[in-house]
Amino acid sequence: MKSHAKVVVVGGGVVGASVLYHLTKAGWKDVLLIERAELTSGSTWHAAGGMHTVNGDPNVAKLQQYTIELYKEIERISGQSCGVHITGGIMLAGTRERLDWLKMAKARGRYLGMDLEIITVEEAAKLFPLMDKKHFAGGMFDPIEGHVDPYGVTHAYAKSAQIGGAEIVRHTRVTDLKARADGSWDVITDHGNVHAEHVVNAAGLWAREVGRMVGIELPILAMEHQYLITGDMAELAGKKEQLHCIDFEGEIYIRQERGGMLMGTYERAGVPWSAVTTPWDFGQDLLPNDLERIAPSLEVGFAHFPALEGAGIKKVVNGPFTFAPDGNPLVGPIRGLKNFWVACGVMAGFSQGGGVGLALSRWMVDGDPGADIWGMDVARYGDWTTLAYTNAKVRENYSRRFSIRFPNEELPAARPLRTTPIYEKLEAEHAVFGDYCGLEHALWFAPTADEAEDHISFRRSNAHPHVAAECRAVQNSVGLLEISNYGKFDIRGPGAADWLSHMMANRVPPVGRIALTPMLNERGKLIGDFTMCRIAADHVFLIGTYAAETYYMRWFERHLPASGVSIRPCAMEYVGLSVAGPHSRALLQSLVRDDLSTAAFPFMSFRRMEIGMVPGYLGRVSFTGDLGYEIWVTTDYQRALYESLAKAGRAYGLKLFGGRALNAMRIEKSFGSWAREYRPIYGPFEAGLDRFVDFKKSEFIGRSAAAEEKHSGGALRLLSFKVDATDADAIGDEPIWHDGKTVGWVTSGAFGHRVNHSLALGYVPAALAKADAGFEIEIIGERRKAHRLTGPAFDASGARMRA
Ligand SMILES: Cc1cc2nc3c(=O)[nH]c(=O)nc-3n(C[C@H](O)[C@H](O)[C@H](O)COP(=O)(O)OP(=O)(O)OC[C@H]3O[C@@H](n4cnc5c(N)ncnc54)[C@H](O)[C@@H]3O)c2cc1C
Repeated sequence: MKSHAKVVVVGGGVVGASVLYHLTKAGWKDVLLIERAELTSGSTWHAAGGMHTVNGDPNVAKLQQYTIELYKEIERISGQSCGVHITGGIMLAGTRERLDWLKMAKARGRYLGMDLEIITVEEAAKLFPLMDKKHFAGGMFDPIEGHVDPYGVTHAYAKSAQIGGAEIVRHTRVTDLKARADGSWDVITDHGNVHAEHVVNAAGLWAREVGRMVGIELPILAMEHQYLITGDMAELAGKKEQLHCIDFEGEIYIRQERGGMLMGTYERAGVPWSAVTTPWDFGQDLLPNDLERIAPSLEVGFAHFPALEGAGIKKVVNGPFTFAPDGNPLVGPIRGLKNFWVACGVMAGFSQGGGVGLALSRWMVDGDPGADIWGMDVARYGDWTTLAYTNAKVRENYSRRFSIRFPNEELPAARPLRTTPIYEKLEAEHAVFGDYCGLEHALWFAPTADEAEDHISFRRSNAHPHVAAECRAVQNSVGLLEISNYGKFDIRGPGAADWLSHMMANRVPPVGRIALTPMLNERGKLIGDFTMCRIAADHVFLIGTYAAETYYMRWFERHLPASGVSIRPCAMEYVGLSVAGPHSRALLQSLVRDDLSTAAFPFMSFRRMEIGMVPGYLGRVSFTGDLGYEIWVTTDYQRALYESLAKAGRAYGLKLFGGRALNAMRIEKSFGSWAREYRPIYGPFEAGLDRFVDFKKSEFIGRSAAAEEKHSGGALRLLSFKVDATDADAIGDEPIWHDGKTVGWVTSGAFGHRVNHSLALGYVPAALAKADAGFEIEIIGERRKAHRLTGPAFDASGARMRA
């Protein structure tokens, strides 16, 4: 083994091998993969090898498409067969809701260039004669589905990488990783050490253990997973290979395996494997079968596909593989560690392994993953993902692998975990809570405890009239919203303002003022949107998206100078309440000594104040589009603040409102939101944030790319639409049609209660930015007429929030 390498990849499963190949393809030749045993010795060797393009996140779906297309390339380079069988696949729906879900998946597939087709039960039965029609309502056909040989794929990546210059060392275990002061690593193995500039943790089943070598606890857990192979079946003899089939109701997947069928299941009572530590002596081993555990799924499977029961069980495979709490991979650099990368938690290695390798290699070589991979960025998780939290969430995710997640559905595992001091108070007001980064926050308020429950649906739900009442309270009197679920950062030091000016596209506001700003990467793409509140010349309170706290901190710390500025995330040290609506000023004025008139405290002001007995910061900003204020206090004061606002609010008709009403109101104002309208695939001009990019100030990250975008106008444009929808509103990811062609996609949608219309925001090609007619938005399989708005649906002039 060599003593120095630019990169050491730890782990020779399908993911590590893909990373190695992609690094060589990107031009880094001095790369070394270290494998504890033989290649594929983790979860890879016993995988069922199924692959598909459909994924809930369109950006992950794109990487899955890429993975499947890649197999030809690595077969050609390596001469190693991947055993690719593209059979096509069907997904079977047993209920109307599932059929709706399939229609939505098909619609989303349109703008991804996927050729999906909704089919009747009769058509499905022709394609897949093993099914018993009576259990199904319809299905969806995907021509690009099939299976591969896990051994062949891994070795094809590995050989292709070796041809590209990479080295692979087997039967060598990485036992420790030690960081040097310059950010490089000593990779300690049981067969000598390697000095590496970069380390990639692709250790699959042992990724947690390799993470612990560098002091991190990755939120992943292995689950036992079983599939069985039937004896040879007369029904298959002499026939073309059967399609892949997913039966959602049975939580089952089926495909042909030689003369029989392979049937796997994600059972409800899933069992974690090695919940705390993974044994190093686990090799190419299988776990004992437990058919009893999967008996309920098998029963459904045998009822839905009767021929399988008669065929008998030839073989059962029970093997472990890893999941993150949301089932998506963990990819990217780790905050606070230089040159340490992860590519793990990949639960669908044969659909995603290629995309993961591509994104990570670009990130390492070019400094940017080259695609929108927010859905699999390791930085989407933070401190709340304790071992037990991960365990609860992974088990939940596994048991619901094929279940529908409705847009208004909140999942129960690991809750409540984090609460603010007013949690019980909101609960007493019949709040329906959602979980955001493990933190409970109110979504809406029901009139009685009995009604405080979401009826899950793709259509307007039981919450609709109550959210309407909340929006009307904000419009006509005053509403109170808890806003603790934001990310907050405390930035201090003599260099704070200059540094922030370099990091952000907008000008840092003067003391006592607030400015909104996009944050751009070097390519001029949106990697954040923030509210900058200037407390003092050397002190800024920065507010952004909480889910992106680690993502932002990774970026901030990378760009922090050696001295003069400090930045500290302080999300839960400061919690907040917001009051909004025409009576909000009078309500606050009854508790505050300072003059809150527009002359004395205009829109976008920020100041330390006492609200009743509570010291805090008051900002005059509005995400609802109405007159509004945000109050930030240290956590110990939140309860007292809430009580004094609630008491004083009685005279002003104060009503609590939640996240659903806020979302509807921000869409009425065409205000974008991180991970929806603002993502690293869009530029600020495309997103309509032109007025927040200040070219007159000094240099800032992304300036020249943003200037180019301004000059060219960008490729896309974010538009607001009024939609002729009747019982279901857009939620995001629906295709936008123009003159009979799919031209774009929805980023957010809701019913705008203050304007009494269904609304959507979405991107279309810039050339269509001014098109007056011809738009449609496809909602649950139906194309609804959409009218382009030339400004926000609510209070287009912005007079109300500035009043
Ligand atoms: C029963 C079953 C069925 C499955 N079916 C499918 C399917 O149909 N389709 C699909 O896409 N996926 C399927 N999977 C999941 C698939 O197996 C995984 O997504 C994939 O194998 C993950 O690959 P990996 O490279 O991340 O991890 P692993 O395969 O676990 O590889 C990690 C490698 O790292 C090595 N390693 C770990 N630590 C060290 C160290 N310290 N030093 C050196 N080497 C180390 C290990 O020996 C191992 O070889 C299935 C899994 C199971 C168990």
